[in-house]
Amino acid sequence: MFLSPTRGRGTCDSSRRGGTLLRLCSMATKSKRPYTIVRGGKLLDIAKRKAVAVDILIKGDTIAEIGRPGLAAPAGATVIDAKHRLMHPGLINAHTHSPGNLAKGLHDRWSLELLLTASQWAHIDYSLEDKYLSAQIGAAEMVMKGCTAAYDLAAEFPLPSVEGLSAMAQAYEDVGMRCMLAPLVADISFFEAIPGLMERLPPRLRAEVESFKQAPWKVTTKQMRRALQKWPFEMVQLALAPTIPFHCSDDFLIACRDLAKEYDVGIQSHVSESKVEAVAGYQIYGTSLTAHMDKMGLINERFTVAHGVWLDDDDMKRLGDRGASVAHNPGSNMRLGSGIADVRGMLDHKINVGIGTDGANCSDNQNMYEATRLASLVSKVRGPDWQRWLGTEEALLAATEGGARALGLHKQIGKVAPGYKADIVFLDLQHINWIPTNDPVNGVVHSEDGSGVHSVMIGGRMIVENRKILTVDLPKLASQAVASKARRAPLTGPAKKLYLQLEKVVGTFCPGLAKEPLHIHRFGASQHAH
Ligand SMILES: [Zn+2]
Repeated sequence: MFLSPTRGRGTCDSSRRGGTLLRLCSMATKSKRPYTIVRGGKLLDIAKRKAVAVDILIKGDTIAEIGRPGLAAPAGATVIDAKHRLMHPGLINAHTHSPGNLAKGLHDRWSLELLLTASQWAHIDYSLEDKYLSAQIGAAEMVMKGCTAAYDLAAEFPLPSVEGLSAMAQAYEDVGMRCMLAPLVADISFFEAIPGLMERLPPRLRAEVESFKQAPWKVTTKQMRRALQKWPFEMVQLALAPTIPFHCSDDFLIACRDLAKEYDVGIQSHVSESKVEAVAGYQIYGTSLTAHMDKMGLINERFTVAHGVWLDDDDMKRLGDRGASVAHNPGSNMRLGSGIADVRGMLDHKINVGIGTDGANCSDNQNMYEATRLASLVSKVRGPDWQRWLGTEEALLAATEGGARALGLHKQIGKVAPGYKADIVFLDLQHINWIPTNDPVNGVVHSEDGSGVHSVMIGGRMIVENRKILTVDLPKLASQAVASKARRAPLTGPAKKLYLQLEKVVGTFCPGLAKEPLHIHRFGASQHAH
């Protein structure tokens, strides 16, 4: 039986009987009063760069009305005092990987290709409880830092399972956070996918990486279908994530496309994240990765490119014309040396842009304030034309409304407005980050770092209150993380040893591929600066 390790306030119990995950949510944990009135706070208007004093009336989990201070509320409504608070829509993390949270800060210098090589080391021997725990750690961090929803591309090796996905979903629901959970899938391993890499490996290592083999696509598709057929969660919905286009056979890409259409769910995929990926795409398909995905019929308004650092103008036009999104991960793009994405170019081509942290194994935290700040800053080092730089209001709209659209939830979240879910962050205007307060949009994007978060409401329910997360026992979480690490330690050592042997080959072969000429340039220095 899988029992959720947390019994925080307002959590749901879960137990499995006869293979079915039964979820028993106590009504007592939900608000007994259908109405909540938030009084005295200042609501951020991102487009106008203003914060105006308002009262917000919430019915159940939805915003009913926003009015001037003194707004009438039904008798018995729960009153929340928001004096000295700046209220903004919950931030939406457009790209993360919950299994990465147990591998937070595991290693320093690794490129995307070395990170993929280290995947087994980073995620070795995850039990069902580890999958829950890793998702819970990430959800707790996100919500404590003002994020109320995430697009989580969650890998299980060698294929997804309904039990694993349910454990991760249960973690989000127990924390009280929204999630678009997408099983991260492939039928070709990294070593098989990169042209010429397997041949470079000495025979002994070639035999070792046989254990990295992914499950056949038909088996994986069956598992995804099983999850989609009976998905019992409310705060967590499913999407699909063919991990990297050329890590999936065309048959598999088509199966993902058809499954997404059948169940009306979104698809997110890492496309042209690194130059190695972009070059490999041309070698394999003779076209860009985006052109190939388009040829396979995957690109539409429910499609999100993760990263897209090495998209060219044609790729951007294609994505914009189809109404697709990009999840921009500036922190991860720098951390992995992937380069600097051309976000202005994306916006010029009418691509919807969201902002993501990426997994904690390659960005080391799940802080959406930091990711949004980096999105603003990194655009300012692309060139001297300041009018092409990303403005703070553009960065914050991407981190809210843009993320909501990437998740396909733009009619429900991303704004504090009547009819939208009551997902509201309350920043403390007496915190040092806000002394003094000048332009509040600049303040959220450039001054706030998460330490000014006073409270966080999701669906009308306080998840963080007075700087404390109400749904997670942090000391208990810490000891569970220690226990998980200790349990996996006998396998972690050999996995790291294998990684270090592979690093010697991958770490020389892939930078060689990255020196192949390409018609676009996204590195911070000239191509051969190293
Ligand atoms: Zn990713």
